[in-house]
Amino acid sequence: MPSSFQLTSTALLSLCLLLSPGASLLASELMPAPADLIQALIRVEQDRQNVQAYKARHGKKLLGREAHLTQRIETGVAAASDLLKSMLAPDSSGKRAPAAEGAPEALKGRTIVLDAGHGGKDPGASGVLTRDDTEIFRLDEKDVALDVVNQLASRLEEAGARVLQTRSGDVTTDLYGRGIAARSTNADIFVSVHFNYSDLCQETPAGGRPVYGVNYTTVYTYAPAKYNLVLPGYARGLSRRLKSNQPAKTTQLAHALYQRLSDGLGLSYTPEPEVIKLMNLEKAHRARLARAAARKARGVPKAKKTRRPRSRIKSTAASRRDYRRFYSRFPKSSLPKGIRRADFVVLRQVHKKPAVLVETCFIGDRRELLRLRGKNRRQVIVDSLFQGIGDYFRQAHPAD
Ligand SMILES: [Zn+2]
Repeated sequence: MPSSFQLTSTALLSLCLLLSPGASLLASELMPAPADLIQALIRVEQDRQNVQAYKARHGKKLLGREAHLTQRIETGVAAASDLLKSMLAPDSSGKRAPAAEGAPEALKGRTIVLDAGHGGKDPGASGVLTRDDTEIFRLDEKDVALDVVNQLASRLEEAGARVLQTRSGDVTTDLYGRGIAARSTNADIFVSVHFNYSDLCQETPAGGRPVYGVNYTTVYTYAPAKYNLVLPGYARGLSRRLKSNQPAKTTQLAHALYQRLSDGLGLSYTPEPEVIKLMNLEKAHRARLARAAARKARGVPKAKKTRRPRSRIKSTAASRRDYRRFYSRFPKSSLPKGIRRADFVVLRQVHKKPAVLVETCFIGDRRELLRLRGKNRRQVIVDSLFQGIGDYFRQAHPAD
């Protein structure tokens, strides 16, 4: 792309920003938007144009999954522009204190996107403590994640890093928007913080019994799923990911975080063998309950299944090639223990920077829930994530 075009679009966009009602905040402060915000918004604008072009090309052929996901990406793009304005607002970077003396060198000058999972209307998983069917105590994943992320952000800033947060309060934030916003910044890494849950942690009304001790640490990295090959922009995202060697760097980051977390929390990547035994017994018990319920319900006419319309849009040769390349270059067997992969939306959207989703521990486990209630356990999590991020930068960039 010739640089003159770049200049023109930058100028145009900053003009649009000042004129659009959504940007009244920036305009009213009479402060020019920082260059990195304009760059990020240009990237989002390109996303928007790509989705529109995709829709125009396929028109009425968009059905089922593609129609749904194209719509979600479009909403995400709109949410991402708003999100970026708050993430990159001049006042939020102005308050940052200079790096404290004696802070580790590895973090100085790095930019890190932190994403506290869920938020607002979406509480995430809930850890509930009951006695005689009465709720005594409840902790939502969104609140613990936010507390941990806010504390981690301060620690990283003290060490001289610049931190961008997808949310710093209890607000509903679009899932696609988070990923798109994170991708559009010039950050070095992306870390999403979550707390895990299993149905087996909870008793069921049908008579399922809770299993205690379902608690382990997992760090997720991205892996493409075949059913997404037809998504707009998917092939391009995959090939950018492969060119930037993102999966290899992501594994390094995931490994560093897993090591520190599992040491700090005293948790492995899998439940204890005796807990696995109990989990299997309980799964069988619940399956028996389900079969009994099904037998009882027999005679009641079956609900008619509605089939989702199948898409008529085919994956492209490029997307299939990049999909195969991904798995041949980064086979599952190459992953260290504690690292798993999934096609999570937030990770899918971040193409070039190392991006991980941390399932810290199980909020659904009764013992862990009681620990998470207090300050100490959260402090351990913050310390571990902080150390892990530091380890990553020391290993990934030992020279600078
Ligand atoms: Zn979660």
